Amino acid sequence: MILKLKENLTTKIRHVIQFIMFLIINFGIIEYIFSLDLIDYSILIKILPILNSPRNHLSYGAGFLEYIFFSLTEGTFPFFLVGLLLLILLFSNRFFCGWICPVGAIQDALIGIPTKNKKRVSKETQEFLIKLKTFILILLTIMTVPLAYTFTTNSEFYENYRENLGYMGEKPLGYFSLSEFIFYFLPNLIQEIVKKANFEPLFKDFLTFFIFAFYIIIIIISIWYPRAYCRYLCPFGAFAAQIGRYSFLKLTRSPVRCVGRAQCGKCEKICPKQVRVLDEPFEFFTGKGECNLCMKCMEVCDYMAIELTFG
Ligand code: SF4
Ligand code: SF4
Repeated sequence: MILKLKENLTTKIRHVIQFIMFLIINFGIIEYIFSLDLIDYSILIKILPILNSPRNHLSYGAGFLEYIFFSLTEGTFPFFLVGLLLLILLFSNRFFCGWICPVGAIQDALIGIPTKNKKRVSKETQEFLIKLKTFILILLTIMTVPLAYTFTTNSEFYENYRENLGYMGEKPLGYFSLSEFIFYFLPNLIQEIVKKANFEPLFKDFLTFFIFAFYIIIIIISIWYPRAYCRYLCPFGAFAAQIGRYSFLKLTRSPVRCVGRAQCGKCEKICPKQVRVLDEPFEFFTGKGECNLCMKCMEVCDYMAIELTFG
């Protein structure tokens, strides 16, 4: 019973932190609720580019990775930001994904919608699908590097290429961002539909309808398949997974206390990222960088075999 209370406590604390961070990061909601004008603090927001969607006019590029890509399109390599991001990931692993990211919080809320049971994909499917986000990240990098290189060396090519890329030349991560969909695309679409009092804006072009349908499907899927977007599509998740596997902060499993899959296996069943905890080494594990340190596996372990470790 004492253990059960402890279990609930970690998740409750995490959800409270997620909720607070959701409000802070999406300051528009705070502005609306408290009738504030946070535009005055826009200079702060530019320095800490963690807001909303890539199209947010204050942050210019939203999250760390969006800002890095945005800088590349402008011919600048953001050494400071890249260094800072690497340090954050090395020291805190994917704590951001599990405890702070608003899109992660929304997906966690979707997990809370009652269903008969949550579903899992097969090991092979999981291994194939998690590569999707890395593929997206590599494609975006290949697409953006010529912009960064030609900004100063070949302005004619730069202008033409950027024009041909359209919106992706401005904000490369935009179309791949669930954050952009939820906090920019959808509210604007709804606003247009309400204004026109018909659904014409939804069908105005193929891309609009495709983006709408695609992300609605992803959101619905996330009710049964926890953190589907994080697992398979998020470009930040792809980058964080590559660095997170070398992080100082990770989980460890005691070979003495753990009774194994045949007798228990609760940690694997609860994991929203479908990390195969019991196939990971005892000394430390990050699920190849997929673990977002939500601590659910620690919580459910009746033998207290899983611990957080640093070093
Ligand atoms: S929940 Fe704990 S005891 Fe059970 S398999 Fe996982 S680590 Fe081992
Ligand atoms: S391995 Fe544990 S801490 Fe990591 S995502 Fe899965 S349940 Fe959460």
